[in-house]
Amino acid sequence: MKTTHDYLVPFLINESPVRGRAVRLTDVVNEVVTRHHYPHVVSRLLAEAVAVAAMLSANLKDDGIFTLQVQGKGAISLLVVDATFGGAIRGYADYDAERLEGVESKSLHGLFGQDGVMIITFDPGTKGQRYQGIVPLTGRHLTDAVHGYFEQSQQILARFKVAVGEQVVAGQSQMHWLAGGIYIEQLGQDNTAMDEKSEAWRHAMALISTVKDEELLDINLELKQLLFNLFHESGVWAYDPLVFTADCRCSRQKMIHTLQGFAPDVQESMVQDGVIEVNCRFCNSTQTFELDDIRVEKH
Ligand SMILES: [Zn+2]
Repeated sequence: MKTTHDYLVPFLINESPVRGRAVRLTDVVNEVVTRHHYPHVVSRLLAEAVAVAAMLSANLKDDGIFTLQVQGKGAISLLVVDATFGGAIRGYADYDAERLEGVESKSLHGLFGQDGVMIITFDPGTKGQRYQGIVPLTGRHLTDAVHGYFEQSQQILARFKVAVGEQVVAGQSQMHWLAGGIYIEQLGQDNTAMDEKSEAWRHAMALISTVKDEELLDINLELKQLLFNLFHESGVWAYDPLVFTADCRCSRQKMIHTLQGFAPDVQESMVQDGVIEVNCRFCNSTQTFELDDIRVEKH
C-alpha cells in the first residue's frame, strides 16, 4: 500500500466507555484549500472544517455522505465540506472580501454574524434515513460549535481538538496546508457504573487536553504512536486506518444532465462566446459546453 499522510485511526480506550478517532490530513487539506484562492482566515477555517468532517464522516456506510455546513449573514456567508463513505473530501466557501477586511473579531460570530448556524447532515444514501442537526454558532473555533452540536443534538459527551498548520516543503514556493485532530466520545449503552464512567471520561478528557498542536501536525509521528503515548496507561485499541482523498464528485456528465434541465431559451441565454461555461464550486474546475453537447437526443 502506498504510504499516505492522509488517514484516520479509530480507537477504543481499554476497558473504558470512551472511544474516539484521530486524524491527520496533509495533501487532502492542501488540495481542498489551494484549489481556491481564499484569504488566509477563510482557508484556515476550511482546513479546520475538513479535519472535523473527516472525523465525523468515519462511521458512514455504503454510499453515505456527510456534510458540514456553516451559514450566516456575516463576511463569510457559507462554508461547506462534504465527505463520502470512501473518504473523498471536498469543500468551498462564500465570502465578501471587502467586509472580511473590516472584520474585527475572528470568532465565529465575528466572521459569520450573530445568527450563524452549523448544519450537520448524515445522508445514508439509498439505505436508511437522512439525519440533520442544526446548532447556533458559538465560540472561536468550529470545534466549539461542534461541541454544541453534540450536547444539544446528540446528547452525548464528546470532545474535539483540531490543529491547522502550514509547512514549508522542499522545492515548493508555496506553503503546504495540513491539519490534524483527535476526538473522544462517551459510549452510551454499556454496563459500566455511572461513577466509573464519569471517572473514565474525566481521565480521557484530561489526557486529550495535553495533546499539543505540534503533535497533531507532526507527520513523522504516526497516529497509532500518538494514541499510545496518550493512553498507554489504560491501554488503547487502534483499529485499521481509513484513508482520505481530495476527490470531487462533479463530472462532465452530471453537468450536462443539469444543463439539460433548463428550457432551450435559458440554455441559449447562457451561451457566451459560443460556449456555456460551468464551474464546480467545490473543486473550482471549469468545463465548457456547446449547445450541441447538451441537446437531448430524440429517438
Ligand atoms: Zn468538482
